[in-house]
Amino acid sequence: MSPFAFLQKGPLWQIRGNASPAAATIQRAGSPLRGRPGPLPGQPGECVLPMDMSAKVLDLLEQGALPGRSALVACIDLYSAPEAEALRAALFARARAVARACFGRHIFVRGLVEFTNICRKDCYYCGIRRGNARAARYRMSPDHILACCVNGWNLGFRTFVLQGGEDPLFSDDVLAALVARIKAACPESAVTLSVGERSAASYAYLRRAGADRYLLRHETADATLYARLHPADQTFAERVRCLHDLKHAGYQTGAGMMVGLPGQTTEHLAKDLEFLYRLRPEMVGIGPFIPHNDTPLADFQAGSVARTLVMLALARLMLPRALLPATTALGTAAEDGREKGILAGANVLMPNVSPRENRKKYMLYNGKLSDGDEAAENMASLRRHIAALGYEIRMDRGDYAAGEGLPQACPRPPKAGA
Ligand code: SAM
Repeated sequence: MSPFAFLQKGPLWQIRGNASPAAATIQRAGSPLRGRPGPLPGQPGECVLPMDMSAKVLDLLEQGALPGRSALVACIDLYSAPEAEALRAALFARARAVARACFGRHIFVRGLVEFTNICRKDCYYCGIRRGNARAARYRMSPDHILACCVNGWNLGFRTFVLQGGEDPLFSDDVLAALVARIKAACPESAVTLSVGERSAASYAYLRRAGADRYLLRHETADATLYARLHPADQTFAERVRCLHDLKHAGYQTGAGMMVGLPGQTTEHLAKDLEFLYRLRPEMVGIGPFIPHNDTPLADFQAGSVARTLVMLALARLMLPRALLPATTALGTAAEDGREKGILAGANVLMPNVSPRENRKKYMLYNGKLSDGDEAAENMASLRRHIAALGYEIRMDRGDYAAGEGLPQACPRPPKAGA
């Protein structure tokens, strides 16, 4: 039997059955229950939220409180339902208002360098996993990576995201030297690393070398689902250990998840929100799962764009100042996915500054975009499209909570660890 037989195919989403709305448990900030999940489905307290209760859930998120698990589940299902377009529009308007209170109409851009697709990890969903013998592998030299950043700097970029598979050649010393060279050659710029799981000492070393930010999605906050999507030597506990070490090392830290993973339920997505609530990441990457033909999950359907946008909007309400990208996966899953992301509360875009010949090889999932507005050389077109939405591209560093001109009215998130 296939090791993936446990994963059901077909639609994973449905509205839950009736239960008393009054039974929805809401955890209030400061209550002794804060930070503990609400009742599980099937237990007393499971419910479908009518619209007024769902608005209450949004109020609580905006006030910095964590609604109970069942309330979150019902809220995600209610807003993601195919027929709930008007409701979704209201949610997105609310998320946009929060983003605008914090960032005005600014959309920050980051120059993305996908510098190696060689990876020692074997995530079942990922096109560059070690086990994919059909992937055309490449690795850029440090000189070449630096040249891409300098080119990006000349185009006006002031943040560079170095992303890659877990390529053993990029040891701590190689990466540290590279970060230092980028910081020297590209004054006033921020360097974000996204190179997977490393030791606490490694994270601290790279931070000392000048890296400012680190992206490491938690992928899913459910340890059992995580175990089903990764080989036994890749555990959720280790992923969480890394995220905590990154925070401890002083990085602006990015977590995030895929929406619509095979076997993922709404309960899992509620757990993702709870996880983000507790971790308080400065950045959150949320994108739909998209299958890749040469992975064990090739035959599963892609995640829903609507549901992904709902998760983005809820994350915006929960973490008002977080830097939330409208991800490439969102842009790949829907023609106007990037625009929809911004209209659901996203405030970051990551145009690709990698060499053209490599972009097609960094194929994490089928059809991954790398041309058009995804490409840094097409900034003029991107600017026009963003301006047409009523937003303005900002090339400055756009650090967490440190942007100039942030309105005082911006709601303050609870303290880290609260
Ligand atoms: N190795 C680094 C890491 O583990 O964080 C960075 C590279 S990894 C390929 C970047 C992200 O791509 C992952 O965190 C995952 O969420 C996303 N990704 C991989 N496969 C995907 C798929 N099939 N659909 C959507 N996103 C995917």
